[in-house]
Amino acid sequence: MAQYEAVENERKWQKQWKEWELYKFDPDSDAPPYSIDNPPRYASGALHLGHATGYSLIDFAARYHRQRGFNVMFPLCFDVNGTPVEVRVEKKFGINKYSVPRQEYIKMCEEYADSFIDSMTKQFEILGESMDPTVYYQTDAPYYRRITQISFIKMLEKGLAYKGEYPVNWCPRCITALADAEVEYDQNITKLNYVKFPVADADDHIIIATTRPELICTCQTIAVHPDDARYKELVGKDILTPVFGKRVKVISDEKVDPDFGSGIVMICTIGDKTDLEWVMKYKLPLEKGIDEEGRMTAIAGPYEGMPVKDARAKIIEDLLSAGTIIKQEEQQQNRSICWRCHTPIEFLQVKQWFIKIMDFKKEVLEKADQIQWFPEFMKVRLQDWVNSLQWDWVVSRQRYFATPIPVWECEKCGYVLPAKEEDCYIDPTVTAPYQDACPMCGGELKGCQDVFDTWMDSSVSPLYNTFWKRDDEKFKRLYPMSLRPQSHDIIRTWAFYTILREHLLTGEKPWEHIMIHGFIMAPDGTPMHTSLGNVIDPMPLLENYGADALRYYACTCSLGEDHAFRERDVVHGKKLCTKMWNLGKLIEMTVTERPERVQLKPIDRWIMSRYTKVLEAVTAHYESYNFDKAMREVENFAWKEFADHYVEMTKHRTRGNDKSVRYTLYTVYLGILKMMAPMLPHVTEDAYQAFAGMDGAKSIHISKWPEPERIDEDAEMRGELTKEIIASIRTWKAEKKYPLNKELARVEVVGKGSDLLKGYEDDISQTVRAEKLDLLKEAHLDRCANMVRPVHAKIGPLFKNQAREVVAQISTMDPEEVLSMLTSKGSFEIQLNDGRDVLITNELVEVLCELRYQGKAVETIQVGDLLVVIEVK
Ligand SMILES: [Zn+2]
Ligand SMILES: [Zn+2]
Repeated sequence: MAQYEAVENERKWQKQWKEWELYKFDPDSDAPPYSIDNPPRYASGALHLGHATGYSLIDFAARYHRQRGFNVMFPLCFDVNGTPVEVRVEKKFGINKYSVPRQEYIKMCEEYADSFIDSMTKQFEILGESMDPTVYYQTDAPYYRRITQISFIKMLEKGLAYKGEYPVNWCPRCITALADAEVEYDQNITKLNYVKFPVADADDHIIIATTRPELICTCQTIAVHPDDARYKELVGKDILTPVFGKRVKVISDEKVDPDFGSGIVMICTIGDKTDLEWVMKYKLPLEKGIDEEGRMTAIAGPYEGMPVKDARAKIIEDLLSAGTIIKQEEQQQNRSICWRCHTPIEFLQVKQWFIKIMDFKKEVLEKADQIQWFPEFMKVRLQDWVNSLQWDWVVSRQRYFATPIPVWECEKCGYVLPAKEEDCYIDPTVTAPYQDACPMCGGELKGCQDVFDTWMDSSVSPLYNTFWKRDDEKFKRLYPMSLRPQSHDIIRTWAFYTILREHLLTGEKPWEHIMIHGFIMAPDGTPMHTSLGNVIDPMPLLENYGADALRYYACTCSLGEDHAFRERDVVHGKKLCTKMWNLGKLIEMTVTERPERVQLKPIDRWIMSRYTKVLEAVTAHYESYNFDKAMREVENFAWKEFADHYVEMTKHRTRGNDKSVRYTLYTVYLGILKMMAPMLPHVTEDAYQAFAGMDGAKSIHISKWPEPERIDEDAEMRGELTKEIIASIRTWKAEKKYPLNKELARVEVVGKGSDLLKGYEDDISQTVRAEKLDLLKEAHLDRCANMVRPVHAKIGPLFKNQAREVVAQISTMDPEEVLSMLTSKGSFEIQLNDGRDVLITNELVEVLCELRYQGKAVETIQVGDLLVVIEVK
């Protein structure tokens, strides 16, 4: 028999599918659309196991819906934007954004990112992804950025976007603002300094504990808790800041923690988020102590120009030597850091563009409720995030490689001139404004130097995909999209921003469904990291086992959870492919033309009923994106019921002209292939080809999803019993070391329920190769002793040099007689040659019995209430 060569076969089909343009989305089709808001893969080159698994899960959904007759839109797309590419380019060429002219810098980033597109497309192909290159997009392309820009202009018109001076998370290394979602946290040990602050006009001082004494220069006020008895007298008094001698007032505020440090806090602009709340609440001036590059400003006096870290060290040194710091304690600190470069972030007040979030929390939560979440519990992550938000979304970044903000601004009065929609895509740093001067003040209009946050691009993907602002008719038909698939780590960014944006722009939810998958961890359950050296490269796995095998691993990953990688699942996947393919070769020999539907025989009704139930369960699992359950269901059925039992039980019928078995083999096998096709697309396609002409599609992937057959509970019950009887006889043969085709003279199934097997006698007798099969209500079996076996281990020590003689005598005795003596008395006597009588007890001898039925030796197996009596030939 030919062998299944996975990798070779997969390449063959990948090439063929491409030629057939099998996955082409037809925007004018009448078929219902099923559109996938596919995550554009980040243009960074290497394929990791998380991609391989995540994109496999998405492909399962795409292929399933194609088989269900949907007009599937599954874009091939790449995310080519943003800081990660910039960081790599800067590293590779040893540059930064100031050392190379802006346009040249952008070009370097573009070329770098573009160099990965071909190999990334190829990786998708090797994985068997059915993405459609005719609905291709790249987020840095003018056609895509145009949509980002128009969406911003729309929001600007509606007053949903604004420019404001506001404290933002700031990375001094990347020199850019960061959204809350781009802030990560680490644990850091820092020093808590107890600093003396003199009370004004008195010979007294208070103690304030701070981890950031370099911010004393921006201290605006001092606060204590209203119930703190220690400081009742202090409220309303003036305090002088050390070094700077600035006069500040003491206030009381509920938010002060009396147990932290001395119970007195200084409120600065801006140390952390609590400071910010106080600044807002008490309308304190926003003084800027740190600049965009993380250096102290003029306000810091003697520390001006120093990087924050150095300024802190210096002021601590100065305060210590002046005796102003009276105590230092080590302190564990939860520090905010930049997601990309891990530099500690600062809060800076900088002019930035914002999109309103705070006014729309309720609407976002409502939209989230209108979307069906798979799994449902992931919705909580979005809800928690929305409820925790305290600021609007800062969307401007002081970077280069991203979508330009399409406005010109007056440097003098701040007037904003937006680009016209029809002119987008536009780069206002290159293109001149429509007017020479500001219409308000005559000042100079300058193209906005900032670019958009990368999520501004990614969060319009549903609008881009559905032809928003390009084709109203198509947009109406295609929006909202059917599915957003994504991982759980970007719920607070990609999912959240998309729901917000699309609500603001369309008033509707962006998708019907959202499917959230987890991460793939190292085999020991820890995250994979280049630095830990535990990253598993999927490419060798693909080359060794093939894509179907790796996709089988993806089938074992339930949604919403992280999974440790297990190579044995890949190995098993390969085994399953081979099994299914070989099964096809076997069935091909019997089914050579499309079988007609006929009245089915009992055993065929059994498997058909089981098959129908499996089909219904698998379909439901696909509908709810539970691919792990779908695979488990169809695999168990295909392997453990259909192949191991039904096919074996019906082998004898395949030689003749049995229409019922042909129809059943064809229907069930084809149905199994189709149920597996979304998950194992290559092997199922190859196996399908023998039946493609009969089924009527050139490829299984555009063939029709199987139809249920008839459920027949009675046939199932009888069929299961038949299966069990056969299985028990086969197991018995294996235990006896008989070949499975060992012929039996007679099999009898005895018991009250044996007539359930009426109509199945041939299936049993032919499969177990019994010449005769009878179903009996009851049978009388005789137990006959046929051999006496001395127990040498006991006789030896007991009789020493006479043992041999004892053994010889016992062995020649009549077994029936021995059995009757042992059962009646438990012992008997024999006389040795020397005339001595010796007692032979129970433990010195075994009597072997056999069962006889109508005078012939038989064996029995108990199957539930039934006794199976076997007479060997
Ligand atoms: Zn950074
Ligand atoms: Zn102006």
